[in-house]
Amino acid sequence: MTAQNHDGDTAILIVAAGRGLRAGGGIPKQYQKLAGKPVLTHAIDRFAAALPGAPIQIVIHPDDIRLFEDARQASLHGDNLLPPVFGGSTRQASVNTGLKVINQIILNIKFVLIHDVVRILLSKTLIQDGLAHAREFGAAVPALAVADSLRRNTADGFSEPVERSGLLAVQTPQCFSFDLICEAHERTVKAGLTDFSDDASLIEWSGIRVKTFPGEAANFKLTTPEDFVTAEALLFASLADIRTGYGYDVHAFCPGDHLWLGGVKTPHSRGLDGHSDADVGLHALTDAILGAIADGDIGMHFPPSDAQWRGAPSRIFLQEAVRRVRALGGMIAHLDLTIVCEEPKVGPHREAIRASIAEIAGLDLNRVAVKATTSEKLGFTGRREGIAANALATVRLPLQSPEV
Ligand code: MG
Repeated sequence: MTAQNHDGDTAILIVAAGRGLRAGGGIPKQYQKLAGKPVLTHAIDRFAAALPGAPIQIVIHPDDIRLFEDARQASLHGDNLLPPVFGGSTRQASVNTGLKVINQIILNIKFVLIHDVVRILLSKTLIQDGLAHAREFGAAVPALAVADSLRRNTADGFSEPVERSGLLAVQTPQCFSFDLICEAHERTVKAGLTDFSDDASLIEWSGIRVKTFPGEAANFKLTTPEDFVTAEALLFASLADIRTGYGYDVHAFCPGDHLWLGGVKTPHSRGLDGHSDADVGLHALTDAILGAIADGDIGMHFPPSDAQWRGAPSRIFLQEAVRRVRALGGMIAHLDLTIVCEEPKVGPHREAIRASIAEIAGLDLNRVAVKATTSEKLGFTGRREGIAANALATVRLPLQSPEV
């Protein structure tokens, strides 16, 4: 890859190479979904909102390439991401690898914010404060005063108090002059020191003093299953503007040997007539989502008069509606589709259609419902002239601004 200049002078380095299975869920904790989005995606979106356009380097475990790709696609800011690099055997080695790759790819980086992926509830202000402190002092970390009384265990099986005044609990992002932290990493490698617990201690060892700035209680590290419950509750609480949208669509049968239902190509003795692929289910869902965010309808965003949508796969309509929800900082809580027809029989395809809609919309399967009914031989669907679809979308939006 050739080195490139970049508009800004700051890079983000997110360390996500850990195996952390302790939180449960069967996959590394940085890829578990919270409020519909992987943990890593939350971290990416927070930094992208605070420092728009800043390149983001993620250090991952080699086994996690597919999980990483899913997390990248779930972000609106995937374009900010540099290709992922693989971590080393320690956190320190992972950070050093990430720094070296940033240095190779981007020419004009002067500051770097190094962040643990499992802190996802940090504010824009915290991130911007960190950068401001790095600019002024060269090395700065967010820290909170310790609130609990502290004790340490003693060799005889009892414990003794530890004076807590002046003690601070350190968080991330740890924010540095890029050259200073790169040099410090090189010096520790040469000295054979490989196990610094964080970059603040590492840069301090190399003689640079570290400034602190106020951390945030919400910027806690996701460690236990209870932490995930707390974090998700906080995320849902921030998405408290709950909207419902309705969509309806009809397409008439025409000669053909298949039709599209919810993104699934379904063999049938007739097709459906329409400008695009005439996927009546995806059209109703798209309008339901657009309705929930009061953003026009499918015909406004994809006019039938526009030749580029002729024969278009309707998944792009649904994906655009989903993108518009995400751009508002929101999430889709639920999609509910009812298909009305005498033929074809929807039942055998129902689960495939559910899975297809979930995949297209980037949702867990349990947030997608597909139902089917006839109209008891009444009306145009009863006369087998076409298929109708009704859809409801439930969307959660942030209470205030469209920021993350
Ligand atoms: Mg339509």
